[in-house]
Amino acid sequence: MSFKIFHGSIRKKLIILVLLATLPTFILYFYTEISNREDKVLRAKNTISRLVNGFSLIQQRVTESTHTLLKTVAAMPAVRKLNEAKAHVILSTLLKANPIYTNAILVDLNGDVVSAGKGGEEAKRLNFADRKQFKEACSTGEFSAGEFVIGKQSQKSIFPFAMPVMGDDGKPVGVVLIGVRLSYYCKLFRDADLYSRAFFGVSDFKGIRIFRYPMSEDVTVGLPIKSEVFRRAEHKGNPGVFETKDSSDVNRIIAYTPLRISSESPPYMYMFIGVDSSEVMEKANLVLLRGIFITLVALSLSLLIAWFVGGSAVAESIEKLAAATRRLGQGDDTLVSGVDYSDGEVGYLAQTLDGMSSLIHKREVERNEALKQLSESEEQHRILFENNPVGICLVNPETNIIEFANPAFMSLLELEDKQLGSLSLFELKYSLDAKIDAGDFKKNILGNGWNAYSVPCVTRSGQMIVVDIVSANIKIKGKDFLAGFFTDITARKHSENKLLEAKEVAEQANAAKNDFLANISHEVRTPLNGVLGMLQLLQTTNLNKEQNEYVDIGLRSSQSLMRVLEDLLDFSKIEAGKLDIYEKPFEVSELLKQCIDLLKVQADEKGIELSGQISTETQDIYLGDVGRLRQILFNLIGNAIKFTDSGSINIDIYSLPHRDTSKERLFFVVKDTGVGIPDDKIADIFESFTQVDGSRTRKYQGVGLGLSIVKRLVLLMNGSMNIESEPGIGTTVLICVQVGRNVSQVVVEFEEGESSAKPRNLNLLLVEDERVNRIMAKKILEKMGHRVTCAENGQQCLNMITKDSYDAVLMDIQMPVLTGIEASRIIRTSPEYADVSSTPIVALTAHATKSDMDAAFDVGMNEYITKPFDKSVLEDVLQRMIGLHA
Ligand code: ADP
Repeated sequence: MSFKIFHGSIRKKLIILVLLATLPTFILYFYTEISNREDKVLRAKNTISRLVNGFSLIQQRVTESTHTLLKTVAAMPAVRKLNEAKAHVILSTLLKANPIYTNAILVDLNGDVVSAGKGGEEAKRLNFADRKQFKEACSTGEFSAGEFVIGKQSQKSIFPFAMPVMGDDGKPVGVVLIGVRLSYYCKLFRDADLYSRAFFGVSDFKGIRIFRYPMSEDVTVGLPIKSEVFRRAEHKGNPGVFETKDSSDVNRIIAYTPLRISSESPPYMYMFIGVDSSEVMEKANLVLLRGIFITLVALSLSLLIAWFVGGSAVAESIEKLAAATRRLGQGDDTLVSGVDYSDGEVGYLAQTLDGMSSLIHKREVERNEALKQLSESEEQHRILFENNPVGICLVNPETNIIEFANPAFMSLLELEDKQLGSLSLFELKYSLDAKIDAGDFKKNILGNGWNAYSVPCVTRSGQMIVVDIVSANIKIKGKDFLAGFFTDITARKHSENKLLEAKEVAEQANAAKNDFLANISHEVRTPLNGVLGMLQLLQTTNLNKEQNEYVDIGLRSSQSLMRVLEDLLDFSKIEAGKLDIYEKPFEVSELLKQCIDLLKVQADEKGIELSGQISTETQDIYLGDVGRLRQILFNLIGNAIKFTDSGSINIDIYSLPHRDTSKERLFFVVKDTGVGIPDDKIADIFESFTQVDGSRTRKYQGVGLGLSIVKRLVLLMNGSMNIESEPGIGTTVLICVQVGRNVSQVVVEFEEGESSAKPRNLNLLLVEDERVNRIMAKKILEKMGHRVTCAENGQQCLNMITKDSYDAVLMDIQMPVLTGIEASRIIRTSPEYADVSSTPIVALTAHATKSDMDAAFDVGMNEYITKPFDKSVLEDVLQRMIGLHA
C-alpha cells in the first residue's frame, strides 16, 4: 500500500516538476500569441488598405489607358467622320483586345448611337444624352468619367468614360463612350483570397453603391452605402482605414480610397474593402488556439513522457529504493537495492542505503554474537549461582526482605522456597552470644564496601553452625541490594579450634622445653660458674707445674662446657622469640682485636696463621649488638680453626652504604684453608644439631648448633649469610649485618665514659643467694682490689645498704625472700632509702632476657652483667658506672 502511495506521489511530483519547468515557456508563448493577435488586426488593416489602394491604382491605370485609348479612337478619321461601319470595326476590335470593357459606342452630339462595338441594331436604339459623362465630354471637350450605371445594353454594373470626338473645326462632332466592367474587380478580389466574409465595394462620388462583391441580400446596388462609412471616406479625402459597423451591423475593418481623374479633380469614385473584425480575430484566435492546442499536445506529451519515462526511469529506481527501505524496515538487513550506483543522486542514495544495510547486517551479526555470548555467560552465571556451595542472598535494603537466594543459602539456614520474598533479614536466627546480629549485618553492609566476619547462627532446626559472612552493598540493574555470601565454616572452625588447641599444647610443650633448657642451663651453669671461678682463683695461688696443668685443663673443659650451655640457652631463647638484639655503640677494630686475641692461642696451637683487616672506608664506631657480633665471629673463627689443619685463617671486614643513610651494611668474611664442605652438605649445616661428619668416630667435636644460631642471629640483625666451600681447599663464610651510623652520639658517650672513668678501689655490696657464686665473685672482686660486703637476698640488701657507704651494689635478680628487682625498686623509691637511692646498682643475671633487662632498668638499675662474668668485663662496667655516677 505504502509502495503505491509512494509510487503515485513520485509521478505526481515528476508531473508537477515538468509543469513547473515548462510553465515559463507557455507564459512566453501566450504573451507572444496575444501580441500576435493585435498584430494580426494591424496586418489585416494593412492588407486591405494595400489591396484597396491596388484596386484604385488599377482603376487609375484603367482610367488612364482608357483615356489614351479613347483619345486615339476619337482621333481616327472614320470616327471623326462618324462612319458607322468603319467605326464599328474599330470599336469591336478594341473590345476584343480589351475584355475589361463592356462596350464601346460612338454617339453623335445628340446622344444617339452612331456605331457600337457590339450589340448591333439593338445598341443603335439607345440614347446617351442623359449620361453625365456624355454631357461633361460635350461641354468640356475633355475626357470625362461618368457615374455608376447599369449598362443600358449589358445590364451589368459598369463605370462609363466619355471622350469627345472633334471635327475638323475643332468642335465636338460626337462622343466615344466606353464602359469598364466592374466585375473585373471581382476576379482580382477573389484572387486576393481575403477573409471569407470580406467584401469589395465601390460607390460613386455621391455615395451610391455601384458595386459590391460578394453581393448579399441586405445590400442593394444603386442605393447609398452606409452614410457613416461614406462620410468617413469622404471626410478624409485620402485613402484610409477605420473600424465601424457596416450596414449589416457587423463590426468591420474598412479600407477605402477615393479615385480621381487627376490629382486636382474631385473624387469620382470610392473603393472600399471591408473585412469582418471578428473574422480577423477568429483567424488570430485560430492561430492562438492552434498554438494552444500544439502547446497542450506538447505538454501532454511531456507529461506522458514524465509519467512513463519518469515512472520507469526515475520512479523505478526510487521504487527499488523504497522496496529496499521497506524490506530493511521489516528486518531484512542482507538486502541489496539493485539500483545502479551510477544513476545520479538515486544511485548515490542506493549506494548509501546498501552500505547502511551491510553495516546494520554486520552490527546485527555482532549483536547476535554478543547476545549469544551474553546468554552463555548468563547461563554460566546462573549455573554458578545455583550450584555455588556458598549461600548467596540478595536483600532489599528498604524492606530487609530476602528477595533472592541460591539453594546453598536455603539449605544452609534450612529455609523453604516459599519464604523467599517474605522472610526478613531480621528473622534469621543468630545465636544469642553472637556479636553480629541482623542489624549489624545491615549496618556493616551499609557501611563501606565489602565486610567479612564469622558469626554463629542457629538453623531452623536449632542446630548451631558457624557462618562466614561476606556482605556488600551492590547494584543490579540500577536497583540497590544488600548481598550476603554465607559460607558454612562449622567444620573448618572445628578443625581450626582443634589445631589451635594442638598449637597451644605444642607451644606449651615448647615453652616447657625452653623453660627446661633455660632452667637446666641455669642450674648447670651455676655450679659450673662456681667451678670456673674456683679454678680461676686456684690459678692465682702458688701451684707447681703439674697442678697448673691440671687446673688449666679443668678450666678449658669447664669453658667448653659453658659454651655448649650458652649455645643451648641461646638456641632456646631464639626459638622462644626471647632473644633481643641491642643497639649500642661498639668499635669494629676492638671487636676484631678481641676475636683475634682470644682465638689466636688456639690457632697458634695448631700452627695456623690468624689475621684480620678492616677496609679503609669502614667507620670504626657503629651502633649494634657487639656481644652477638662477637658470638657470631667466635663461632665462625672457632669453626675455621676447628676444621683447618694447616694454612691460614683471614678475617676481612668492610662496609657498604645502606639505602637508609642512618644505617650501613657491615660485612665479615672468614676465610680458611681447611677441609671444606661438600656441595651436597652445605644446605644442611644450618640445620640445628647437624654436622657434616655425624659419625660416632668423627674427628671434630661439637653439637651442630653454632651455624644455626649464627644464621638466626644474622637474620635478627636484618642481615644475610653465605658460604662458599670446596673440599680440600677451604671455606669462606660471609655474613652481612645491618648496623647504625649514629656516630657523633657514640663518640661523645665513649669519650665521656673513658675520660671520666678512673680505676679506683671501691666499696661494694654483693647480693647473691647462691653460696658458691657469692664466694667466687667476692674473691674475684677482692683480687681486683675492691672491698666486698655480701648479702644473701634482697631483704638483707635493704637491711645492709644504709649501714655503710657503698660505691655500688651488685645485685642478683632471682633470689628468695626478696628479688633483686623488688629490692632495687624500694631503694630507688622508698623515702626510707632516700640517702642511698642514687647508689649505682649492677644487675647480675644468669639468663638475661629483654623483659628481665627492661624490668631491671625500669626500677632504676644502672647496668647488667651476665653470669659467669669475665673479670675484665666486670671491671669495665664498674669503672664506667662509677665514673658516670661519681
Ligand atoms: P659444630 O658445633 O658442630 O661446629 P656448627 O653448626 O658450627 O656445629 O657447624 C656445623 C657443621 O658444619 C660442622 O660440624 C662442620 O661439619 C661444618 N663446618 C662448619 N664450619 C666449617 C668450616 N669452616 N670448615 C669446614 N666445615 C665446617
